[in-house]
Amino acid sequence: MKFTDLGLDDVILKAVNEEGYTQPTLIQEEAIPNVLNGRDVMAAAQTGTGKTASFTLPMLHRLLRHANSSTSPAKHPVRALILTPTRELAAQVDESARRYGKHLSLRVGCVYGGVPMNPQVAMLRSGVEILVATPGRLLDHVGTNNVRFQSVEFLVLDEADRMLDMGFLPDIKRIVDLIPATRQTLLFSATYSEDIRRLAGDWLRNPVKVEVAPRNTVTETIKHTVLHVTEQDKSRQLVTLLQEGTVSQALVFCNTKMGANRLTRQLQNKAIDSEAIHSDRSQIERTAALDNFKAGKTKVLVATDIAARGLDIEQLPHVVNYDLPHNSEDYVHRIGRTGRAGQKGEAISFCTPEDKESVRAIEKLINKKLEVSAPSKVNRSPTSTNTRQSRPGVQQSKEDSFFSKPYVAQTDNSPSAKTIEESSAAVTEKSEKKKPIAALFMPPASDKKN
Ligand code: AMP
Repeated sequence: MKFTDLGLDDVILKAVNEEGYTQPTLIQEEAIPNVLNGRDVMAAAQTGTGKTASFTLPMLHRLLRHANSSTSPAKHPVRALILTPTRELAAQVDESARRYGKHLSLRVGCVYGGVPMNPQVAMLRSGVEILVATPGRLLDHVGTNNVRFQSVEFLVLDEADRMLDMGFLPDIKRIVDLIPATRQTLLFSATYSEDIRRLAGDWLRNPVKVEVAPRNTVTETIKHTVLHVTEQDKSRQLVTLLQEGTVSQALVFCNTKMGANRLTRQLQNKAIDSEAIHSDRSQIERTAALDNFKAGKTKVLVATDIAARGLDIEQLPHVVNYDLPHNSEDYVHRIGRTGRAGQKGEAISFCTPEDKESVRAIEKLINKKLEVSAPSKVNRSPTSTNTRQSRPGVQQSKEDSFFSKPYVAQTDNSPSAKTIEESSAAVTEKSEKKKPIAALFMPPASDKKN
């Protein structure tokens, strides 16, 4: 199927073409025609499947009739409200909506916490048709009458499961109550829990259900590795992986903000460019950390689950679970940052003796066995404390005596490499600069001619 078969206006197709998208992803094929037909949609789709365009493009199409260049705020009421769990996701959706709608006279705006209210107040008061928001800050604006919802035609709940996990349900209920019942509602969730189904039952009318990947599955292009370590060896193991070049760039997950800060300092002390991203950092710091990582200026972004949710980072080769997640569904979310757009990716999980149960829970959830890789041998000489400092900017020698033996990555050819990676036809071997979204989420090759 081609984008031109979906029934989108030419002015939207022009923007899609400029994005370099040649073919709709599966979620786009499924969702776009239904949204254009006015249907409510409940979609199980992870970030990385092209879900943002799957709701934004048809929404822009349906809102085209309201496009105008009047300067009067009254001519630009909120017509579409997109709720997201995190500031980062809000900013990403806002950016995508601007790009997809760049040839239309529809205004796009974004409100989230952690930044001053005033510029947002000015933006809301001058009028905006498409508003992307995190629930808490949006309610602050509702409380001070900066925004009204009587003209809202579309409500999108993006990453609904995560909004519930983060305790936003009461806020979302308050917001939904303010939106006209005649609206079209689109709910996106990486997982379908009972809570999500219940909410969908309350808020969606006879929704079309779209599921592009079976529940709680992981992309087949990801290789999963478990490294058995002790708690005190974790940082040394990570440094080894990074210094040996086994891991070129990684998003590393810690379960706590304090742990993330500590690890970031330990890596920096080893002259490994690293930054942390978590909710105690200001929005400006978080944005800068993400930008530096995306630009390749930092090698490691150390993140907590909430901050990393929904991050869209192209060609991220590695995700490291420095701490295994408490909740096994978070494993799916975490590793979903790699192996995107048909690229190969590797998820390396550090597993201490206390983590055995968590590994079992993850394996059960994703219905795959995580394969064990041998950790590097760490020299436990008295000098090998991880408090040793190195001057910033001075690269550590690869012959660092802390680590007697380099980490040996399991390669595809290695007979001992039993990973869940499969030679699926969908997996493209070539490493291209920018590729279409995950081959797995693309329709089969035979459809492409249509
Ligand atoms: P999302 O799942 O919305 O976070 O999208 C993930 C990435 O896929 C983003 O970088 C999009 O720009 C990209 N993308 C979305 N739709 C397509 C498409 N049809 N072809 C190629 N890339 C796409």
